[in-house]
Amino acid sequence: MDFLPLFHKLKDRLVLVVGGGEVALRKARLLSDAGARLRVVTPEVRDELRQMVEQGAGELHLRGYETRDLQGVCLVIAATDDEPLNAQISEDCKGLGIPVNVVDAPALCSVIFPAIVDRSPLIVAVTSGGDAPVLARLIRAKIETWIPATYGQLAGLAKKFRAQVKSLFPDVQQRRVFWEDVFQGQIAESVFAGKLAEGERLLQDKVNGAAPRALGEVYLVGAGPGDPDLLTFRALRLMQQADVVLYDRLVAPAIIELCRRDAERLYVGKRRAEHAVPQEEINRLLVKLAKEGKRVLRLKGGDPFIFGRGGEEIEELAAEGIPFQVVPGITAASGCAAYAGIPLTHRDHAQSVRFVAGHRKDGSFDLNWADLVSPSQTLVFYMGLTGLTDICQQLIAHGRAASTPAALIQQGTTQQQRVYSGNLSNLAELVAEHEVHAPTLVIVGEVVSLREKLAWFEGAQASV
Ligand code: SAH
Repeated sequence: MDFLPLFHKLKDRLVLVVGGGEVALRKARLLSDAGARLRVVTPEVRDELRQMVEQGAGELHLRGYETRDLQGVCLVIAATDDEPLNAQISEDCKGLGIPVNVVDAPALCSVIFPAIVDRSPLIVAVTSGGDAPVLARLIRAKIETWIPATYGQLAGLAKKFRAQVKSLFPDVQQRRVFWEDVFQGQIAESVFAGKLAEGERLLQDKVNGAAPRALGEVYLVGAGPGDPDLLTFRALRLMQQADVVLYDRLVAPAIIELCRRDAERLYVGKRRAEHAVPQEEINRLLVKLAKEGKRVLRLKGGDPFIFGRGGEEIEELAAEGIPFQVVPGITAASGCAAYAGIPLTHRDHAQSVRFVAGHRKDGSFDLNWADLVSPSQTLVFYMGLTGLTDICQQLIAHGRAASTPAALIQQGTTQQQRVYSGNLSNLAELVAEHEVHAPTLVIVGEVVSLREKLAWFEGAQASV
């Protein structure tokens, strides 16, 4: 190990920064975030750096470096573009035993800056010892995605209870189990979901030894349109925690695979017209499982609040007082449009976009067609395959031009994606000539013509 990571307490301590440019500014910013008082020595200074020094009650000396600048400082940053000067500062510091960092010159440094993930008070530092800073930054980026942004709040909450828990469990082992439970369970999830007060109440209950709550909780999670890469971080985390997963047909197998291995998986899918498990039964099942104390993941295609009956499912939970949270997903309209190269709005072509349920109820559409034919509006029909001929005819009959571009996207965002494009007068015919696989989405509007220029994603099948 070439460098031992130590975390430096700089609050109210004096740090010398030599240099007044961009690099000096970046380091100064970090130092002042850590509460250091800055002594900046530079013949010329940027306004921002000057303000930073003033705000932090530091010192600014508009001149060249002198050895006396080292008096009373606990750390030195040499950030000038004058190499001999940087080398001299490094020498001076080493002679006096003051830690020194020379920007971009690892050989001259006694301390180096790591790449930082800041979830204060939780801080992760990564370094390559100066050999490959880009690699360290890439690793940092990965870590950023693993650690929820609100982790710091969780640590803050733990701090509040630390002393209490310590006296409650003098045994280290017991204490460890206690905290593991806090950081991986319902308390942590409450904090991540922005319910800090609830998290604190639950932790207080736990400390008070209140009986663990018999209630589990439900995560209503949008799984996006198909490509597993389009899951949100939160969706993935909850998928890996849940005890039971209820999913339907729209959720791709590759996504189900990402759920915790030993979680129970219940298929409650529906096919058009034949409801595998009636909605009321799903609602009841969610309540029942949560009441058994389970963490229940209700995984839905796309976004749970867009044609997903998500609202109905959580209404029942709310009525029963069962804790739940809703995680948005990328809805089919966004996913399919992006992967088909069709911007849903465009300054020249469409000022608004409508998401429309394109299925018939009792054989007819429950739609106000006159409202849908404005030329500067993009229409996205979900569930529109069987009614496609009618949809196109009705739009034309109510005044939308027959030449309006229109596309049907099959299994959007997946390797099976295929796009059929034409216009309102010929799309249905074109689709009828091919074997089309659900799910499909229909987009109508001038924006569809942009696909010619903007298509970028190729599924395994050529588009038509
Ligand atoms: N909640 C979902 C929509 C559920 S309704 C969402 O936000 O996306 C089901 C309809 O969504 C399907 O009939 C189809 O029109 C559309 N759909 C969902 N995923 C799709 C995909 N990958 N490609 C094309 N259409 C899709």
